[in-house]
Amino acid sequence: MEIALVGIGKIAVDQHVPAIASSPDWELAATVSRHGRVEGVPAYDDFARMLAERQDIRVVSLCLPPVPRFNYARAAIESGRHVMLEKPPGATLGECHALEEMARRHRVSLYATWHSRQADKVPAAKAWLAGRTLRRLRITWLEDVRHWHPGQDWVFEAGGLGVFDPGINALSILTEILPDAVHLTGAELRFPSNRETPIAASCRFHHPGGAEVTMELDWLHQGPPTWSIEADTDAGTLLLENGGATLSIEGTQDESLPGLAGEYPRLYAQMAELVRSGGVDMDLAPLRHVADAFLLGRRVAVAPFDWDAA
Ligand code: NAP
Repeated sequence: MEIALVGIGKIAVDQHVPAIASSPDWELAATVSRHGRVEGVPAYDDFARMLAERQDIRVVSLCLPPVPRFNYARAAIESGRHVMLEKPPGATLGECHALEEMARRHRVSLYATWHSRQADKVPAAKAWLAGRTLRRLRITWLEDVRHWHPGQDWVFEAGGLGVFDPGINALSILTEILPDAVHLTGAELRFPSNRETPIAASCRFHHPGGAEVTMELDWLHQGPPTWSIEADTDAGTLLLENGGATLSIEGTQDESLPGLAGEYPRLYAQMAELVRSGGVDMDLAPLRHVADAFLLGRRVAVAPFDWDAA
């Protein structure tokens, strides 16, 4: 199937272009970006023109930051295209609900992707937790924003989520692997005094079985990142590390290898299946937790943040 990629920036180049190139399902038939392009692929800088001129392209993958993405998604759906959304699926819950309603009305597929859910060990972690009683779960997501988002000011602008941009990846795993739904009960959000989004956060969640569930996010962490979820249960401890790529149970590493390799190849295989079946997959649970943190979280001002002041 022909697909257009919109917003040729960091994640498009790092992950989407290689995943499409290696997929038996997809052919990259156009890009839309004001500055970026992919060698050998017809490039547009105007989305409306691409939609009008390229009726052969029925599927559009949007890799823009969340705030500008809604207008692109709306235009694509209204022109009858199937749409794949980078995470988070929108800047607000309201616009995500609106997109889902539009997709159903126009009978097109819509996929809110959560790439971290496709990490190698997420299915095994989910299966192991299914039969256990949870006592405590701790998310620790620490990374250096200067390394992972160099110069990307949108992450610090309203709607860019700040440290919840990586934090929502942890929440997408949490909401996939836990058998019981949790909800946020408190948060402390640390905002640099010169920025509009938090650079660090601590969150607490209610678990229906009474387990203690917490999350620590920090974007000023130096050195190798920590992307881990540790769960203590009645039958031992599960440790999911490297963003879901490594799993240990009671200290013993799970060495099994899944079939198709890579988070983004799996996302594109699922998008192909969704288009074939005419489905909509719009799970907003991770974004709901972030929205709740912004609703309930106590705001604390911290030192200003500048990209070059490492
Ligand atoms: P990015 O490189 O800053 O932006 C992607 C592209 O979007 C830009 O190159 C730009 O292309 C276009 N764009 C930016 N602002 C725009 C605007 N206001 N209007 C229209 N186009 C605009 O961002 P990214 O890191 O790729 O992230 C994009 C999305 O992927 C985010 O939702 C992010 O959470 C998600 N994601 C990122 C990563 C990562 O490691 N960076 C990992 C997984 C998921 P032009 O200037 O050429 O138009």
